[in-house]
Amino acid sequence: MSERKDIRSMTLPELTEDLVSSGLPKFRAKQVYDWLHKKYVAEFDEMTNLSKDLRETLAEQYVIYDAKVLQKRVSAIDGTVKYLYELNDGNTVETVLMKYKYGYSVCVSSQIGCDMGCTFCASTIGGCERDLRPSEILAQVYTAQRDMDIRVSHLVLMGMGEPLLNYDNVMRFLELLTCEDGVNLSMRHVSLSTCGIVPRLYDLMELRPQFTLSVSLHAPNDDIRRRIMPVAKRWDIETLLKACRDYIAATNRRISFEYAMMSGVNDSDECARELASRLKGMLCHVNLIPANEVRENDYVRSSDERLTAFASILERSGITTTVRRTLGPDIEASCGQLRRNHAKEMTEK
Ligand code: SAH
Repeated sequence: MSERKDIRSMTLPELTEDLVSSGLPKFRAKQVYDWLHKKYVAEFDEMTNLSKDLRETLAEQYVIYDAKVLQKRVSAIDGTVKYLYELNDGNTVETVLMKYKYGYSVCVSSQIGCDMGCTFCASTIGGCERDLRPSEILAQVYTAQRDMDIRVSHLVLMGMGEPLLNYDNVMRFLELLTCEDGVNLSMRHVSLSTCGIVPRLYDLMELRPQFTLSVSLHAPNDDIRRRIMPVAKRWDIETLLKACRDYIAATNRRISFEYAMMSGVNDSDECARELASRLKGMLCHVNLIPANEVRENDYVRSSDERLTAFASILERSGITTTVRRTLGPDIEASCGQLRRNHAKEMTEK
């Protein structure tokens, strides 16, 4: 038997073409698409307006990639929910659901693990196992919506993985998520975070995406950046910032720079001044993140006083700056921690 097709990664026109070419009427495709992208079923047998025969035929030809809740932690402090999902092949992936005044925002993973090697990040410790399929990124959203009986209005691609190294699947995921026959999320409510894969930034700007691009900068110069982000050895900071300026010119959209504040590493006044001079005049925004302390490394988050001082130097230079509040501090809500603990528990058993 030939390999079954990944049905939830198909667009409605693709699914229609497939089903019509096997002799089915067009409206069947819409029905199936509804089950997959509006009712979030994970079994063909749940598609109750299709005949049993048709459900069986579909199951022979297609597979539905799903994300099943393996662990769920709810923060007692702010209601943030962290899921550890199990995928069809037994791999696990993390997703975080955050509640804001404006609605629910979900933070999804784009790869299982990550190869980028940032020294402060827990997602990258075991390397990248594999890319996620569009359907597996979608399922992270769908399962959370189904589990909580809510609709997500905002999405950030800031979980495990480097989204621009899984470029085609991530773009298709976004196409499906923003499609009016599915969740119909607004592209303007999406943020994609990258550590700065320069050639992919050039590919991306040609598409003039309507989402917000976040670039993980974390340092004001190559010296510091190379110590904490191996990707900086491949593309130096000036090459990256040139790509960012080109991106802004091509898309006319503001870039958000992520900067995780680590005590004694990148949080001095001098760092702030250097950063300010590099970013001067750019249509950008700096998002200071008090670094999450993870068990696997020794970084210490900067003090509140440091954060404030750093932010005010940037602000004085005319650079819009925000300090991100930490959500779910009691549930290990930051990148990679839950999956690593789960893997550890499994090996210790
Ligand atoms: N690979 C993408 C998305 C990853 S995670 C990227 O590099 O942007 C989203 C953000 O969390 C990135 O800015 C990442 O650098 C940051 N991050 C990872 N570990 C962190 C930690 N321990 N504390 C604070 N921020 C962290």
